[in-house]
Order: sequence, then structure tokens, then C-alpha cells
Amino acid sequence: FGRPWIFIRGVPALKFLPPEGPLEIAFAGRSNVGKSSLINALVGHKGLARTSNTPGRTQELNYFVPEGYSGESGDLPPMALVDMPGYGYAQAPKEQVDAWTKLVFDYLRGRATLKRVYVLIDSRHGLKKNDDDVLSLLDKAAVSYQIVLTKTDKIKEPAVPKLIAETTEKIRKRPAAFPEVLSTSSEKGEGLEELRQAIAKTVGH
Ligand code: GDP
Repeated sequence: FGRPWIFIRGVPALKFLPPEGPLEIAFAGRSNVGKSSLINALVGHKGLARTSNTPGRTQELNYFVPEGYSGESGDLPPMALVDMPGYGYAQAPKEQVDAWTKLVFDYLRGRATLKRVYVLIDSRHGLKKNDDDVLSLLDKAAVSYQIVLTKTDKIKEPAVPKLIAETTEKIRKRPAAFPEVLSTSSEKGEGLEELRQAIAKTVGH
């Protein structure tokens, strides 16, 4: 995470995916879960992923890579971060939900370089039905994923370990779930280093 990161491409449909190159780490979560804030906090760049209060608007896979790689063979970045479009927006029309599911499932199933998806869950809400649906999609696609609780500064301190334990139990039988649940607050900078280390380990650094 040492260098500045840059946005390279928004992918509205699979034909716009960049050729497979660096290992990919993706981020998924309900609209407003704090995904943009977490990606920005992880890479230390406030404006990288857009933080917006208009949920459900971006229907693209957004690709970020560290700056300074030519992309020529042998000069690939160590990894790319992929910001997946938010889901669970109450007012989303059915066609939009179907389009989301298709884009995401095709990407998940077909991407050999995708190492893991971090599924973000708002600490105040816990796992909801549409989160469960996404976890099932990930299990079906057999893509490794790990749960990250967000906005832990919004709940009382003792509630965090309890929520971690409850969530761990809920995903225990899911085949593609990484058993350890992480917790973060982008606002307070908590849990970011643990998440960076988990990611680095996943891509083999
Ligand atoms: P996204 O839709 O998932 O990308 O969510 P955003 O990153 O845009 O965040 C949604 C809202 O939650 C914004 O108002 C953020 O300021 C707020 N937010 C994000 N992360 C945190 C956090 O760690 N703590 C608190 N208190 N608020 C947060």
C-alpha cells in the first residue's frame, strides 16, 4: 500500500474488463456500508473511491492500482483493488438488481486472478437478507471471501466482540467463507492495519 493509488477503469459490462494481470482483491457491500470510505482509508487517499450519499448509482466494477507500473509484461502491479457496485438499495428497480447480479456473478465465476472478496457489513445492522444472498452467490462461485464489519465507532465498544462472535457463528457453515471476521472504523482508523495485513497475506506479500 506504500505508493499512491490511481483509478484505472470502470467496468459496466464484462467485455470492458482489463485483461487478467495482477491479483485482484474486491470489495462488496450494501450501499452506504462505508465501502468508499474504507478503500480510501486503506490506501490513504481521500478522494480515490467516491464517497457519496446517493446510493445505488454506480453500477460498475471500479479498478484501482498503485501508480507507476507500465503494464508491460513483467511490470505488473502486485495487486489491483476492485470496488464492486453497492447492493441492497431499497428503491432499485428489478432490472438493476438483475443487472448487478449478472455482472457480479459472471465476474466472480470467470476471474482466475480474483483472490478474495471482502464483504463489508455495517456494525449497526449486522448481516441482512441481501448480504446472505451475496454470500450464497460467492459460495456458489467458490470465491474466497472474508467479512469486514464497518463503522465500529457507531456502536458501543463492548458490542464489537459480541457482533464478531455472532457473525462468525452465522458464516461457520459457509464453504467459501474465511472464518475470521475483521472489524474496522474508517473514521477512527481502527482495524485498517489488520485488514491491510490480511490482504497482503492473501496476495502473498
Ligand atoms: P459506500 O456507499 O458504501 O461507498 O459508503 P460511503 O463510504 O460513501 O459511506 C457512507 C456514509 O457512512 C458516509 O456518510 C460516510 O461518511 C459514513 N461512514 C463511512 N465509514 C464510516 C465510519 O467508519 N464511521 C462513521 N461514523 N461513518 C462512516
